Amino acid sequence: MAQGNKILNLIGGELAPPASGDYFGNEDPAIGQIYSEVPDSDEKDLDAAVDAAEKAAPVWRNMPAESRAQVMNNLAALIEKRQEEFARAECVDNGKPLSLCRNIDIPRSIANLRFFAEAGKEMEGETFRAEKSFSYTLRQPFGVVATISPWNLPLLLFTWKLAPALASGNCVIAKPSEITPMTAYMLSTLAEEAGFPKGVLNVVHGRGAKIGAAITRHPKIPAISFTGGTVTGKEIYGTGSRLLKKVSLELGGKNPTIIFDDAKWDAALKGALASAFTNQGQICLCGSRILVQQTVYERFREEFVELAAAQKVGDPLEDATAQGAVVSRAHMDKILGYINLAQEEGGDILCGGRRLFVKGRCKQGYFIEPTVIDQLEASCRTNQEEIFGPVVTLLPFADEDEAVALANSTPYGLAASVWTESKERARNVAARIDSGIVWVNCWNLRDLRTPFGGMKNSGVGREGGLRALEFFTEEKTVCQPAA
Ligand code: NDP
Repeated sequence: MAQGNKILNLIGGELAPPASGDYFGNEDPAIGQIYSEVPDSDEKDLDAAVDAAEKAAPVWRNMPAESRAQVMNNLAALIEKRQEEFARAECVDNGKPLSLCRNIDIPRSIANLRFFAEAGKEMEGETFRAEKSFSYTLRQPFGVVATISPWNLPLLLFTWKLAPALASGNCVIAKPSEITPMTAYMLSTLAEEAGFPKGVLNVVHGRGAKIGAAITRHPKIPAISFTGGTVTGKEIYGTGSRLLKKVSLELGGKNPTIIFDDAKWDAALKGALASAFTNQGQICLCGSRILVQQTVYERFREEFVELAAAQKVGDPLEDATAQGAVVSRAHMDKILGYINLAQEEGGDILCGGRRLFVKGRCKQGYFIEPTVIDQLEASCRTNQEEIFGPVVTLLPFADEDEAVALANSTPYGLAASVWTESKERARNVAARIDSGIVWVNCWNLRDLRTPFGGMKNSGVGREGGLRALEFFTEEKTVCQPAA
């Protein structure tokens, strides 16, 4: 835990305060109070981190992949030993239910480290034989790379980027979100014990607009992997492309959940509910537009609203809680603003729609009732813009063509889920939807080897498995005359 509740940067193997000595407050959104302080890092801290990473680069890149994997596995084991501590810290920092942290966030963070530790050993080049030449390729790390991650799945997405960057032989400057820095800090305190040489892993905390922007324009950081909002992504892409950096962007979504009338009813209902409200609707993969075939629309609406209204919202530390606090006051106000907008646009609030005041310890926390809205046009702002909260809309469709047209009617293209018992329909619809992933009769089921990323405004590039390792490496061809 942070000493005196002050979080520190990890630079060149040392836990250090920011060069400026300045900090800002970090809030527990379930109680609406500051509980720790975050370094307000600036270019001085970044320069020190880049220097340290550059110095460490030859050591780490020349270490056998097996040895790098061992260090990463050590880190995974150290986190695993403190799993409960990490889960509680994530819950307090983010407001999400402790059960979710225990069952998803922390185990998946450990799995990310282990998965890429192994995958790093599998990186291979290609060979090309021709009449006159023999060529082969080498995949080589950049040296120093950066990762910038968001607040919604703090440690999960932090490690999802960090692990492939390290496994492919790079030294890393990692910037977690200023809103949820705690578990990244806790991870950084374990780096030395895990066996990371000094300077291989650097964690620089601070404000996105300040230290994030400085990372983006730093001349000695040639590759940046970013997950976050589309507006920020465009800014990073703009700066990065002017400086010819390699940039990977995982951005927002406005994902459709498509329910056909032949779907297995209970599974579809539960799947749509989980997709709408897990993590307070703050997952880029959440299904925030539920498209339902007209023939079953009324029945679905009635049963779905009943389930949504019954979701237990409250203290994220309590076992029974299904939905905790949203991440900040500013984010709560943004979500409530969208609910107002939905009403102005003619939406009918079927349940929820308001801030929820929880009794006791959490009376000043940022809670929002699970909210279901219908009677909106597909083209209205509520149905086009990412809200990123516990708010879903219902839209009826007549047939497959209309379902696909509605699914594709937003600027985003990250994920979709399709619920039908017809294999043929599932194949057809999956092929026609513009999104990086389509789930059939499931949601958020992940195989870490598969490509992950978005189309349109949802991103550029693919992460996952070998693709992430490829992103963090340069490919070189070595050509010689045929023997
Ligand atoms: P932001 O874009 O606000 O922030 C993401 C990260 O970028 C944070 O670390 C942030 O720092 C940093 N940042 C902010 N401004 C800049 C800048 N000018 N230059 C460089 N870095 C900057 O996103 P949120 O944290 O609000 O995350 C929510 C968004 O992330 C949603 O849109 C969601 O859909 C998307 N997301 C996408 C995923 C995907 O895989 N496609 C997965 C998860 C989320 P700070 O927080 O300190 O400001």
